Amino acid sequence: MFPGSLGQSLSGRALENGLWSYNALQIRDYAADRHKTVDDTPFGGGAGMVMRPDIIEKALNSFNNPGKLFYMSPRGNALTQKKVQEISTFENLTFLCGRYEGVDQRILDAYEFEELSIGDYVLSGGEPAALIVMDACIRLLPGVMGNEDTAGEESFSNGLLEYPHFTKPDPWIDTKGKTHTVPEILKSGHHANIRAWRERKSLELTRERRPDLLPEK
Ligand code: SAM
Repeated sequence: MFPGSLGQSLSGRALENGLWSYNALQIRDYAADRHKTVDDTPFGGGAGMVMRPDIIEKALNSFNNPGKLFYMSPRGNALTQKKVQEISTFENLTFLCGRYEGVDQRILDAYEFEELSIGDYVLSGGEPAALIVMDACIRLLPGVMGNEDTAGEESFSNGLLEYPHFTKPDPWIDTKGKTHTVPEILKSGHHANIRAWRERKSLELTRERRPDLLPEK
């Protein structure tokens, strides 16, 4: 599963250029038995299987410097842009990706894993969640994005959703024959007015779609 989509485009080039690196461990490789068993039935009964703490520990101990430890989990701290900014400052990170019902609580407590959720829904495994966290962090690393200014204006960076974008052609006539034009102000070359328009649009969009992001009046 790794690097998956991170091997392409922006993050793929950054990987090739050594701006980030990864080491994906297959937890099964640390199982002791012939069947490579990593899970067992839950104490207390119930459906599903739970990943064993001793096997996860062996995998973890194979890293020289695991850095900050995260367990991908739907009950974890919410992944927000603020959280992404915080995570991207760590030199080394380890993402423990669960399967089945999840992992034995004792490994999380003993090694002080921070639980991290990518949203209020349940995936079948933590790997896609880790890829999402990695993608969001990698693009913030120095040298990864061509224009470093872009990150500052994006949605959530300043607490608001981003303003709308337009490019050529102008006008654009769709296949149903309808004409769509670009707002005149963006073609005016008047930078202060353009900035003010964008700020206004940003605020309008946030008020309309995500009023929860706005400070309370
Ligand atoms: N029994 C768990 C629960 O109800 O909270 C769900 C386990 S889920 C089927 C298997 C694994 O997927 C989890 O251990 C976790 O690593 C990962 N996962 C599922 N949803 C996730 C989410 N929203 N964010 C991060 N990781 C998630």
